[in-house]
Amino acid sequence: MHELREQCGICGVSGHPQASYLAYLGLFSLQHRGQESAGIVSCDAGKMNIQKGMGLVNDVFSPNDFSALSGDLAIGHTRYSTTGGSHPENAQPLMVSYRHGQMALAHNGNLVNSDELRYNLEAKGSIFQTTVDSEIIVHLLAREAEPLVERALASVLSQVKGSYCLVMIKDGKLFAVRDVYGFRPLVLGRLGDAHVVASESCAFDLWGAQYVREIEPGEIVVIDKGEIRSSHLPPVKHRAHCVFELIYFARPDSLVFGLPVQEVRHAFGATLSKEHPADADLVIAVPDSGNCAALGYSQESGIPFAFGFTRNHYVGRTFIDPLQSDRDLGVKIKLNPVRQTLEGKRVVIVDDSIVRGTTTKRLISLLRDAGAAEVHLRISSPPYTWPCYYGVDTPMRSRLIASEKTIEEIGDFLHADSLGYLSQSGMLGAIKGVQPQMEPADFCCACFDGNYPAGKCFSAAKEPKKEG
Ligand code: SF4
Repeated sequence: MHELREQCGICGVSGHPQASYLAYLGLFSLQHRGQESAGIVSCDAGKMNIQKGMGLVNDVFSPNDFSALSGDLAIGHTRYSTTGGSHPENAQPLMVSYRHGQMALAHNGNLVNSDELRYNLEAKGSIFQTTVDSEIIVHLLAREAEPLVERALASVLSQVKGSYCLVMIKDGKLFAVRDVYGFRPLVLGRLGDAHVVASESCAFDLWGAQYVREIEPGEIVVIDKGEIRSSHLPPVKHRAHCVFELIYFARPDSLVFGLPVQEVRHAFGATLSKEHPADADLVIAVPDSGNCAALGYSQESGIPFAFGFTRNHYVGRTFIDPLQSDRDLGVKIKLNPVRQTLEGKRVVIVDDSIVRGTTTKRLISLLRDAGAAEVHLRISSPPYTWPCYYGVDTPMRSRLIASEKTIEEIGDFLHADSLGYLSQSGMLGAIKGVQPQMEPADFCCACFDGNYPAGKCFSAAKEPKKEG
């Protein structure tokens, strides 16, 4: 339903006899971060086993698979492509054999200098098996003369730019790494004597694991026979946590960047209500992306919250006849407005963002068809005007409605009676209200203000290619 997609979710388990099964469960919790492919590598007495494929976690694994994925060490990955395209060979984890043994790696993020690095590696004879930027890290590691993996990793990561969270198995050890900006989340936990890592803490809840802390930006964590070692890459001046994790990507039941996501979204909605009040009878959400902010808007404004749409969770990918005259069909299959609730009412509808505007326009048309007297659209983030180069599938800038039109023009295009976006200062202020130690400078807001903390892709600087 949503027009933006996160690239990947990753997890790792060390020191548990059912490591691969736990990784499998963890991937269910991270399925919202990628639905195109899933995979697990386990390690049993130094020997690695792999299973991966296209589709949802449920499509890729069956109960019989886990006896082949033996060992007390495992990493898992679930993917949505932003670079490299949707092909079986691009599914992760990547597993290779090279002169220093076997290695497996799973990556969440996007390298902005991947074209240059790949060109240089190919010029030196590297032959790539995939088109994903994660393989560049594998090739760079294979070329390192340094036998100690922590040091080799530090050397390789000084060459790559952009966003990355990595989980990696080498020499029977689990490595967990986060880029110096901390764009994407990665958390560390305990499950009895075992250590666990995951993109989001919601995986810990399913495992029954205890949240310990975030992996810090620039930190290389090594988990080796129950012991944890940690080293750090040279720091940058400011962190650049992806604020869109808080707006939309992360699950509301997760702790991300140390922040409770649901509470932050609620605060976004409350601030939005103060910035853009409305004279209305009901507040409704675009499910599920607008739920928490709509509740915050309702509670702050005193306008009652209601369920204006019923969502069908069971449709999956649906074939829609291109000749079908009803252009709203794709949206209607998934969301049906509740006429009995909406008829004759002045409605505030809250969503997290507008990307192209086509889906939002159809939702507003559905509300009017269901009898809503007025439709006031409120967005719990600033206008989305710039593409993301750090691991989010984004349309070309010319397809982003807020880069082409003023807010008034967008409201007219969508046929909304009024339109209000949360301001960037309001958004960052709401985060600080939840966690006073958080500074506005510690967040990447590039898709709203065009200030890219880690630069742009060389190729993408022309215009990013829309994939998936
Ligand atoms: S550009 Fe936007 S989506 Fe991309 S990392 Fe920055 S805040 Fe997140």
